[in-house]
Amino acid sequence: MEKRTWDVVVIGAGPAGLLAAGRAAMLGASVLLLEKMEKPARKLRISGKGRGNITNMRPLEEHLKEIHPEPRFLRQAFGAFFNHDLVSLLAENGVETKTERGQRVFPVSDRAWDVAEALVAWAGRQGVEIVNRARVESLVLEGQAFAGLVFTHSGSVQRVEARCGIVATGGRSYPATGSTGDGYGFAEAAGHRIEPTRPALVGIETAPAFEAAQGLNLRNVRMDLWVDGKKHASEFGETELTDKGLDGPIVLRLSRRIVDCLAAGQKVEVTLDLKPALDIAKLEARLLRSIEARAGGTCGDLLRSLMPAQLIEVFASQLGLDPTGRARQLAGPNLKKLSTLLKEMRFEVRGHGGWEDAIVTAGGVSLKDIDPRTMASKKVERLFFAGEIVDLDGNTGGYNLQIAFSTGWLAGTSAASSR
Ligand SMILES: Cc1cc2nc3c(=O)[nH]c(=O)nc-3n(C[C@H](O)[C@H](O)[C@H](O)COP(=O)(O)OP(=O)(O)OC[C@H]3O[C@@H](n4cnc5c(N)ncnc54)[C@H](O)[C@@H]3O)c2cc1C
Repeated sequence: MEKRTWDVVVIGAGPAGLLAAGRAAMLGASVLLLEKMEKPARKLRISGKGRGNITNMRPLEEHLKEIHPEPRFLRQAFGAFFNHDLVSLLAENGVETKTERGQRVFPVSDRAWDVAEALVAWAGRQGVEIVNRARVESLVLEGQAFAGLVFTHSGSVQRVEARCGIVATGGRSYPATGSTGDGYGFAEAAGHRIEPTRPALVGIETAPAFEAAQGLNLRNVRMDLWVDGKKHASEFGETELTDKGLDGPIVLRLSRRIVDCLAAGQKVEVTLDLKPALDIAKLEARLLRSIEARAGGTCGDLLRSLMPAQLIEVFASQLGLDPTGRARQLAGPNLKKLSTLLKEMRFEVRGHGGWEDAIVTAGGVSLKDIDPRTMASKKVERLFFAGEIVDLDGNTGGYNLQIAFSTGWLAGTSAASSR
């Protein structure tokens, strides 16, 4: 790295930083991209369980419904670069994509790694100079304008001057990937408000928790969220039992509210409906018929006809019954208990996973301090923000990566034109 003065310096080579840097260079800017890890985009490489659910093909209005807390903020960013643009950019760079259930897009190779490599190569071809193992320590401002930054590389402290800076350091989740929240400190020191950061898209700790059934996935179930005794939300789909409680898509979708309600000291419960297609009267009639048909069988046999094997012990112990006992024990008062358990198994939510487990960070640099038309700071001239550092987060389904790609592209476009 010879040159000491750049048009644009980008901090963080995640999906937001790569797009910002590549786009600014494409428009003719000289661009330096600093990444503190040994290689760029570590989080992108492990996203979607290594398969990389990189975006979602749902149309704009539906896309916006999946984003918090202020989806309208993204209209310009999505207008500048949306799902089709990402798919085209990747195709032009050798990564074919496919669309799966729920309109989720993955690389055909099922390797998020390929997406990361293609974007790093693309940015390089635009002329971006990427320096790995370069940890930015602070921003340098002149008055209220960006002037450069200080970083450490190979044990030495260096300073670069640049006309524009783009902070794309990500959130706080999965800190081992490099996202340790450094950018919040830079933003705060430069006078920006930071909305409190919380883990989002995270599993929950419950009582009871069924350790013996951990790893079990329950599909086509409904989960209701209860806060201080009132029903707040419902989700339908898949959940996973863990050693500490519950995880999986429907829990992740409810987790944002759960985390906030727990932080506010509210009583949080979830109920699980294992038979959402049947109302309680139909379920009870069906249970009664099954009990009569299996009068000679065991409770275990009957329960096995209703649920995955790993849950039999759980249900038997909740009902206080021996699974090897006669099925007819499930008639009478136990029938009501069984149907209630199947329709409304109740869990008290005692906590949630931390930064090591959360998929994304809620909170971040306040939207009030960023211009949505450009991603420019309203506090510091020629400073821009992109990606998860901004107070925006999406549900699972490819929405978080699209936020990073779109805000990165827009920030890169704006920085290049502010040279
Ligand atoms: C396990 C997991 C799976 C996920 N799966 C999906 C998925 O399938 N689909 C989806 O849409 N979203 C997914 N996400 C979320 C998504 O990966 C993130 O929202 C996205 O990576 C955010 O992009 P970003 O560029 O803003 O930040 P990051 O990807 O966090 O990149 C920030 C970069 O900045 C670097 N950096 C930080 N501080 C400094 C510093 N001081 N100096 C220099 N560099 C620095 C970091 O090392 C990092 O490389 C997943 C997240 C996780 C944890």
